[in-house]
Formats: sequence, structure tokens, C-alpha cells
Amino acid sequence: MEKKQLKIESRLAQIGSVEEPVTGAINFPIYQATAFRHPKLGQSTGFDYIRTQNPTRKVLEEAAAGLESGDAGFACSSGMAALQTVFALFGQGDHLIVSLDLYGGTYRLLEAILSRFGVTATYVDTNDLDALERSRKENTKAVFIETPTNPLMMITDIELVCTWAKRHGLLSIVDNTLLTPFFQRPIELGADIVVHSATKYLGGHNDVLAGLIVTKGKELSDKMAFLHNSIGAVLSPSDSYQLMRGMKTLALRMERHESNATAVAVFLKEHPAVAEVFYPALPDHPGHEIQKKQSSGNTGIFSFKVKDARYIEPLLRHIRLIAFAESLGGVESLMTYPAVQTHADIPLEIREAVGVDDRLLRFSVGIEHPEDLIGDLGAALEAAVAEVERGDEE
Ligand SMILES: *Cc1c(COP(=O)(O)O)cnc(C)c1O
Repeated sequence: MEKKQLKIESRLAQIGSVEEPVTGAINFPIYQATAFRHPKLGQSTGFDYIRTQNPTRKVLEEAAAGLESGDAGFACSSGMAALQTVFALFGQGDHLIVSLDLYGGTYRLLEAILSRFGVTATYVDTNDLDALERSRKENTKAVFIETPTNPLMMITDIELVCTWAKRHGLLSIVDNTLLTPFFQRPIELGADIVVHSATKYLGGHNDVLAGLIVTKGKELSDKMAFLHNSIGAVLSPSDSYQLMRGMKTLALRMERHESNATAVAVFLKEHPAVAEVFYPALPDHPGHEIQKKQSSGNTGIFSFKVKDARYIEPLLRHIRLIAFAESLGGVESLMTYPAVQTHADIPLEIREAVGVDDRLLRFSVGIEHPEDLIGDLGAALEAAVAEVERGDEE
């Protein structure tokens, strides 16, 4: 059976399993080699030097391209390396339109580094076509979207934005880190480029730093291959292997992340110490219908606001099973405080304008038993509220 005809669960489980013709190894080996012997002058095995291509990385890149319905994949040393490689498509005088509630590192890359190379960005609610239209300039080259956004889980209609972008000759770039190709495939909805922090759900075990780029079309794929090789922020053979190892179980993990996150979000929504829960799986989330239309499931992270900012410190101190740590997408549950961690580089006015304030927590729900997660969070919330009330009485 052709791999392309298989369902995504089967393609994920079988990454690299038929690509090794010499021994038939089920897992594609780690080719720990930087150089490849040429059979004779003018001939190549297809591999010359590791930065350009390595067999282990190639298997990963082809799998990524297939999963995202693109033409070419590029594995990078981190999600930020992937973003920098993509942004290198632009230069002096170019302008980008970017999602407002953006990953902090991407904002920092654009504002602190790309700005020095003459690339400017306008941040808008990418779901508002009028706002998109108003921010478009003569030198606009691309639209960059995250959906859902992190941490506020705002949803953008990918097809709508890509159609608008195409009409104006702009490239559409989607950061698909939070949903992964298991739940959402932006290229099928019209995007030209998909970027991933594979450190998150694709790797899935909080143990490998990696990024992926997938491009659609030959011209763009050739340009990206040139940038990937020229910039050199490529993934090592061993990390390529580690990432494929994680990706094989992506389908199982995403289903469990989603059901766990839904259970915990519903619990928090009813909790008296919680003011708001931001999770697109909940029917009253403003992006719920669009999310349902363009994706087959929901991510495993959501955010919530407690009623009193003073609950935050004791809450983070009292969680036991859930770790207070700064990442997402792994099998272990992690709680993040965006205002002081992931989003500290975004100016206060912008941060608060979009709603990333000092009462907001982000929860990357792992694959533990949901009752244990609810138990841990419930006990920590109760202890936090009690401490604050005791403080008020003293
Ligand atoms: C983590 C993350 C990145 C950056 O990826 P790294 O692998 O940490 O370099 C980019 N975008 C999103 C949405 C992320 O969550």
C-alpha cells in the first residue's frame, strides 16, 4: 500500500520503517556522519555534507512534508531556528502582518533582530479582515498566523486569511505547533509554509529541542532549501532520530492530551476561584465553530484566569504532580505563568491589551490520569484560596 493512501495514525507509527533497504531495520538508523564518500568525480550518493543533507534527517523531513501535505520538509535545531530560516525569505524594506497574541520568542525575533535587517511587522487580530486590509502596505510580503494563539487560544480562520493573502500576492505562513498535523493541516487550507516548534507535541516527551518547516510548491521549496543550508541551523542526526521516535506515538498522545485538557478545563470552569477558562473545545469559546471547521481536534493546552492575582504564588507552590515549568506539549503536565515567563519580552501595554495579565496561567495538560490532575489542581487551588483568606484576616 502506498504511504500516501494510509491514514495519518498509520503513517505516524511507520515513520522511517521501510526506508532502510540494507538491513531492513524497522527504525531508521542514526547516521552519525558529517561527510559522505563520492563514488567518483561528478557522482554523489545524494549525500555530500551533513549541513546540506543527512540520511536520518532526510527521513524525518520527508515524513514531515507528507504529514503536513507539503512538498518539502526542513528540520531545524529549534523552533526559533525554523522561524529565523523562514523569516530570511524577507529583507530590507519588507513588511509582515502578524498575529497579535503571538508566541513571545517570535515577537522578540521580529522586534529585536529582524527589525535591524529592515523587516517590519504589524500585529493585528488576524481574524478581522478589515484589520488585515488596513494593515496591508505596498511592501507587505506575508501574513504570519498562529492558531490557536498561545496563551489566549484565539482562533484564526486559516482558509479565509490564506484566500485573502493569495488575492494580494502575499505568502501565508502558519505556526502549527499547538495542533500538529494530526489535528490541523494549514497547507490543505491554502497556506504556503507551515512552521513547528517540534520541541512541543511532535517530540512530545520534554526531551528534544527541534523545529520543522514544510513548504508548498517547487519555487518556495528550493528557496527554503537554499536558506536552510546557507543559515545552517539544522537538526543533528541523533535529535532527528529522537524526534521521529516521539512522532510515532503522536496520534495516541494528542487524543489523550485533548480529552484530559477538556476534563480539566470543564472542572476549572465550574471552580469558584477561577474567573475565566480559554479553551476552544468549550462550546462558548468565541473561536469554537471555526476551530471545529478547520481542525479535527483540540490542543492539550489552555489558559485560565484566577479571580485574585494573589492566588498565583501559593497555587504554583502547592501543585505536586503538575510541574511549574516553562514549556508545553510533553507527556508530563506543566504549568506556566506567561506574564513572567514566556511573555516577559512583550511590552506590558501590548501584553495587557491582549489579556496576558498577572491572573493568567497556562496549563499544558499531560497524559496522566485526568482524576489525578484534577485532584492536584483542586487541592492546590483550595490551599491557595485558604492562604489568601488567612492573610486577609491577619
Ligand atoms: C515553543 C514555541 C516556539 C519556539 O520553539 P523552540 O523549539 O522553543 O525554539 C515557536 N512557536 C510556538 C507556538 C511555540 O510554542
